[in-house]
Amino acid sequence: MRVLILGGTGDAAELAARVATIPGIEAIASLAGRTRQPSIPSGNIRIGGFGGAAGLANYLRQEKIHLLIDATHPFASQISFNAAAAATEVGIPRLMLNRPVWEKVSGDRWIEVDNIAAATAALSNQAQRVFLTVGRQELSSFAHLKKLWFLMRVIDPPSPDDLIPPGLVLCDRGPFALENEREILINYKIDTIVSKNSGGDATYAKIIAAREMGVTVVMVNRPAIPPGEQVSNVEDAVAWLVNQIK
Ligand code: NAP
Repeated sequence: MRVLILGGTGDAAELAARVATIPGIEAIASLAGRTRQPSIPSGNIRIGGFGGAAGLANYLRQEKIHLLIDATHPFASQISFNAAAAATEVGIPRLMLNRPVWEKVSGDRWIEVDNIAAATAALSNQAQRVFLTVGRQELSSFAHLKKLWFLMRVIDPPSPDDLIPPGLVLCDRGPFALENEREILINYKIDTIVSKNSGGDATYAKIIAAREMGVTVVMVNRPAIPPGEQVSNVEDAVAWLVNQIK
């Protein structure tokens, strides 16, 4: 059985490593190619877009893929809808691996918004020094907020032509320790964090640090995902796969 794992997350890399140990299954991991030095999942790998849902359907046929696991980031919604359409067209089972959302707990000062545009609007009302952790692709949406100062944490630096808001670019890759996040909030006198509700442990420490220090978090809620079977952890994805090959 050949399984295509759509990756770009730590969960996808972990899943690829687990699948490599299951007899009878050959996995291919796919990355979009956004980061210059991606954390490469073990085993077979391909990099780059497929050319929309039709391109992905062609790939599934050509490569004789039997099963599709969508382990992309919860905010990468285009590829998830493409995966749903392509798997339906080709007639193969598809599973989504989606880690649970972060839930607001006592002490959190969250402003929950539905998209990046709403996050920019929320900032202009109340923030001055912002820790922006929404990824390089979203920086330009904040570029018009000239009166605010931003610490922009990204994996790869923006290119010189990119429009970005005023402030400092910090290149770093998770997981991030709580002590690191506390120091950032203190050293840069941050009053507001902007975060996607990505879920998982790797980037949760900033949310804890914000809670401890009374820092506001503008939390961007997840976009809709296509209907279909889903699990919330790697273990359950492995169990689904094993069940499929019985
Ligand atoms: P997106 O908007 O859903 O996808 C845009 C296009 O990128 C897709 O139509 C597809 O191109 C290509 N693509 C996306 N994921 C791919 C994959 N795993 N393999 C091959 N092609 C892929 O996705 P995005 O938000 O740009 O994210 C790109 C990648 O970065 C994803 O793999 C995602 O898991 C990861 N990531 C995203 C975020 C985020 O916040 N968005 C955060 C961390 C990691 P074609 O139409 O040409 O096939």
